[in-house]
Amino acid sequence: MAFEGLADRLQGTFQKIKGKGKVTEQDVKEMTREVRLALLEADVNFKVVKDFVKRVKERAIGQEVMESLTPGQQVIKVVKEELTELMGGDESKIAVANRPPTVIMMVGLQGAGKTTTTGKLANLLRKKYNRTPLLVAADVYRPAAINQLETLGKQLSMPVFSKGTDANPVDIANEAIAHAKEEHNDYVIIDTAGRLHVDEGLMDELKQIKADVNPDEVFLVVDAMTGQDAVNVAESFNEQLDITGVVLTKLDGDTRGGAALSIKAVTDKPIKFAGMGEKLDQLEQFHPERMASRILG
Ligand code: GDP
Repeated sequence: MAFEGLADRLQGTFQKIKGKGKVTEQDVKEMTREVRLALLEADVNFKVVKDFVKRVKERAIGQEVMESLTPGQQVIKVVKEELTELMGGDESKIAVANRPPTVIMMVGLQGAGKTTTTGKLANLLRKKYNRTPLLVAADVYRPAAINQLETLGKQLSMPVFSKGTDANPVDIANEAIAHAKEEHNDYVIIDTAGRLHVDEGLMDELKQIKADVNPDEVFLVVDAMTGQDAVNVAESFNEQLDITGVVLTKLDGDTRGGAALSIKAVTDKPIKFAGMGEKLDQLEQFHPERMASRILG
């Protein structure tokens, strides 16, 4: 389960402080030391942990007194608020173009879950927002990726725009958008090519598509289970492509939570969705506060 390890550890720490009617500076110091260790063990970025602990310490020591809570509970509240903030604060919305279609470009490394997430996102847009997405197969290097998207389209009864492996991805994207206008598809979700590693060829291609198509969203799909690797991938994609948000996949299998807790602070781009399983309805809008509650119980 998501965050299980971190949750166990932090809940243990807070058990000690919870009922305290008086919290000394020493208590806060001990608590923040344990929080620091728990976050490092959860594979949260070192600098992110340092800044986090500093903020919690400052606020918990000089905290505002609320009569409804015990001092122990107030300290926990500070940690929860800071965890929420660390994961992006408010829930972030998905763009809607003034003139449809809204164009979303999906980018990421191979195996991260990009194609599956393209299907899941289309499903969510239809179910929750009554949208009519068009899926676009723009990974011209892997016939298997095109087939996979077409299969997803069939499962979802949704249209898939594809031109096989001979066409240029920029042309595919442009033609798909023109097609969406004719067919009144209000979202176009482009599944771009992925590689095993970040490389210049891939980035050049993605930059070209982005410059030409001018998408409303560029979502980077990363695998939560890869921890700090996911953070590094997010950093380099963001530098090159100026992404608009992150989709964190496989959070269902990530007991640590290092990527979820680091990406926003490192890239300053919000996590917009979380993949919670392989099925097409297992994509959730990312709610920082709910995630913080999941961690703190
Ligand atoms: P791509 O190469 O990035 O397009 O990756 P795929 O979409 O083919 O996904 C790779 C694997 O990850 C597949 O087996 C997916 O079922 C699986 N996967 C994707 N998202 C999730 C998720 O949120 N949770 C779990 N458990 N598996 C996922």
